[in-house]
Amino acid sequence: MAEISPRFFTTSLLPVYEWLVLKGGRWRKIKLRVRVGYFHHPALGHSLIDTGYFNNDTLRGIVTSPFLSIYRALLRPSTLGHDPLSCSLALLRITRQEVQTLLISHFHADHIGRLRDFPNARIICSRRAWETYRLRSSFKNALSGVFGVLLPEDIETRLSFFEDAPMVEAPYELGRSYNLLNDGSLLVVDLPGHAEGHVGFCFPQLPKPFLYATDSQWLTQAIVEDRMPRFAASLVACDREMLRLSTEKVAIFVRRGGDVLLCHDINSHRYDLDAEGEAQT
Ligand SMILES: [Zn+2]
Repeated sequence: MAEISPRFFTTSLLPVYEWLVLKGGRWRKIKLRVRVGYFHHPALGHSLIDTGYFNNDTLRGIVTSPFLSIYRALLRPSTLGHDPLSCSLALLRITRQEVQTLLISHFHADHIGRLRDFPNARIICSRRAWETYRLRSSFKNALSGVFGVLLPEDIETRLSFFEDAPMVEAPYELGRSYNLLNDGSLLVVDLPGHAEGHVGFCFPQLPKPFLYATDSQWLTQAIVEDRMPRFAASLVACDREMLRLSTEKVAIFVRRGGDVLLCHDINSHRYDLDAEGEAQT
């Protein structure tokens, strides 16, 4: 059995008011992280979970859309002027060119922003996420935080889908999940509600079963203390009831003894490389 050991690094920081992401939170700004995950497995090679935000180099040479310009102006991701992703990969002693596989949790811009910077990598995502993107107008996609200009033109030739993997039972009541590598080391868990086809990634063979629950919530504290923000969830979620059920699933996983990490949580986690220094502007 191949050993698989995930690492995460922060590629951007996003200041938001705490009350937006935590019920009963204060009127003070906290810095949400935008994480990218890394692991190596013989079947997939050097692999990333998501790519983080785009930066200025990513956008050079492509015709950007007015939707994306508005998004940039509103959120001002701290990655724009430099390349924290490559800096973090350097800490792992690999280069962008050596990354062979990208697993995409969902198609929001802070997760697929740098797909174009990996022109040779294969891409694996949810079929549901992909088909929803294909069927929607660019306006409706933009309203959902999905921008077609960030996708490489040849993406369909490099794409495969989680749903084509066999299913197994994931630990601690996460339910039937996709056994992506066929050896039980990485399970892709449906966590619907935040975005169409949104998934998390479970590593059940680590000393403590670990779930990267991506954007099920912003803060782990909101899950552990049952303090999910209603207002902000309604702004972003594609299905509020499904989001509630997914968050409950993650909460049960934590109560049963599982270890959870969210993409945007502000606290450092044992699997973080802690590249925060590189993410600061
Ligand atoms: Zn998202």
